Amino acid sequence: MYDFNYHRPASATDAAAARKAAADGVYLAGGMTLLPTLKQRLARNSDVVDLAAAGLAGIGRDGGTITIGAMSTHDSVATSSEVQSAIPALAALAGGIGDPQVRNRGTIGGSIANADPAADYPAAVLGLNATVHTDRRDIKAGDFFTGMFETALDDGELITKVTFPVPAAAAYAKFANLASRYAIVGVMAAKTGDGIRVAVTGAAGNAFRATAMEQALAGDFSAAALDGISVDADYNSDIHASAEYRRHLVGVMAKRAVGEIA
Ligand SMILES: Cc1cc2nc3c(=O)[nH]c(=O)nc-3n(C[C@H](O)[C@H](O)[C@H](O)COP(=O)(O)OP(=O)(O)OC[C@H]3O[C@@H](n4cnc5c(N)ncnc54)[C@H](O)[C@@H]3O)c2cc1C
Repeated sequence: MYDFNYHRPASATDAAAARKAAADGVYLAGGMTLLPTLKQRLARNSDVVDLAAAGLAGIGRDGGTITIGAMSTHDSVATSSEVQSAIPALAALAGGIGDPQVRNRGTIGGSIANADPAADYPAAVLGLNATVHTDRRDIKAGDFFTGMFETALDDGELITKVTFPVPAAAAYAKFANLASRYAIVGVMAAKTGDGIRVAVTGAAGNAFRATAMEQALAGDFSAAALDGISVDADYNSDIHASAEYRRHLVGVMAKRAVGEIA
C-alpha cells in the first residue's frame, strides 16, 4: 500500500468537498474492493475519503418507494423488515452476496459504483427500474451502467442513495460462483409500474435488459413463454463459464425467476 492522506468527513457535502480538493482522491465505502486494490498497489491515490461517518446509511419506505442510503451494507438490506416486506427479491439478492464478512462491510453504493460485471445489485437496479441519486443529479437505471467497471458517474460524483419503486412482484435467480458467490449469471424478473422487466448480470460486460424476454412475458407471464428465446449479448467467456454456457444460463435463470412469481 502506498501512503495516502486519510479523511473522515461528517457529511456528504464535506465528503464531496474533500474529494474535490484532493489531487487524486477516491471514496472509501466498505473497502471490500478498494482496499485490496490499494494493498496490491494497483492504485495510488493521494487521498482516501472514508464515507463511514458521512451519514449515508439507512433504509426507509415512503409510499411506493424504498430508499437505501449508499453506505447501507448488504446485510442491512437483507435483514431490513421494510425491504423484506416491500421487495423480498431485493432482500434475498442482498442476502446472497458473498459471505457474512462481505455482507457486513460491502455497501450498495460501493457495489454499483464499482460496476463489477458479476455483481448482483446491477440486476436489481435495472430490473426494478431504480434511480441512483448523487450529490449532483438523479441517474435513471437504464443510463447508469455503461460498460465493464464503467458507470455514468463523473469524476468525484458521490452516490448518496438509491430509490427502488416497489414492484407488484419480483424474483432474482442466480447461478453463483461457489467460491465468491459472485454471479456467473443472475436474472431479476419483475412486474413493475413500468411493465415487465428482465435484467441480467454476470453474463456480459455490464448488466443489461433482456428485451426479447420482456416482450414474450408481456403477452404471457409464464416460464413457458421463455421457451426457445435465446438472448443476444456480447457474452463473457472466462475460467468460470464459456459464452455459450452463460447464454444457456440466462434462459435457465430467467425461467426460475419468472416461475417464482408467475
Ligand atoms: C470475497 C468477496 C466476495 C464477493 N461476492 C460478491 C457477490 O456474490 N455478489 C456481489 O454483488 N458482490 C460481491 N462482492 C463485492 C462486494 O459485495 C462489494 O459490494 C464490492 O466489493 C464493493 O465494496 P464496498 O461497498 O466495500 O466499496 P469499496 O470497495 O469501498 O469501493 C468500491 C468503489 O466504489 C467507489 N465508491 C464507494 N462508495 C461510493 C459512493 N457512495 N459514491 C461513489 N463512489 C463510491 C469507491 O471509490 C471504489 O472505487 C464480493 C467481494 C468480495 C471481496
